[in-house]
Amino acid sequence: MARYGLLIDSRKCTGCHACSIACSTYNELEPEVTYNRLEFVESGTYPNVKMDILPIQCMHCDDAPCVKVCSTQATFKQEEDGIVAFNPSKCTGCKACMAACPYDARALNEARLAEKCRWCPEMLTQGKQPACSSTCMNEVRLFGDLDDPDSEISKKMAQFTTTQLLPEAGTKPRIWYIK
Ligand code: SF4
Ligand code: SF4
Repeated sequence: MARYGLLIDSRKCTGCHACSIACSTYNELEPEVTYNRLEFVESGTYPNVKMDILPIQCMHCDDAPCVKVCSTQATFKQEEDGIVAFNPSKCTGCKACMAACPYDARALNEARLAEKCRWCPEMLTQGKQPACSSTCMNEVRLFGDLDDPDSEISKKMAQFTTTQLLPEAGTKPRIWYIK
């Protein structure tokens, strides 16, 4: 049993898109589909302005609205590790999950299946990080088991103040951002 999560140090993100490209390549995504995007957020007033770069993907929410609205259980929460998984053979393409997700984390492919980040389970079984995390040269992304106090993510989470996106949505996301 594990409780997987992802810690993102967006302060170190340069906006190079290596994570997005690695994700698309690894998952053999169609050109118009992405599981992993960057948002560029400007703030301040000239000349005191700054731009934050926010990597955004499926948050593998503990209280996932996409799971609640999926009438065929094509989208479901895995008991063993907390990953919100997707079974394309059960998807009817109704798009209810896309409407329910507050993070806009799902994408309809050419076959009209509402795909999303899977956290690269094939990599995890080999003890590796997901494709996005292992590719980032600035080590912005750290994936791991939150229930293991000796995991790198648990240790780093203890060192920093973190925040989450849209906490008011009540989705209990599994991704944290270092402030
Ligand atoms: S981020 Fe969106 S797609 Fe991912 S689990 Fe949460 S509600 Fe579902
Ligand atoms: S589009 Fe597919 S995964 Fe999404 S709610 Fe409909 S059946 Fe479920």
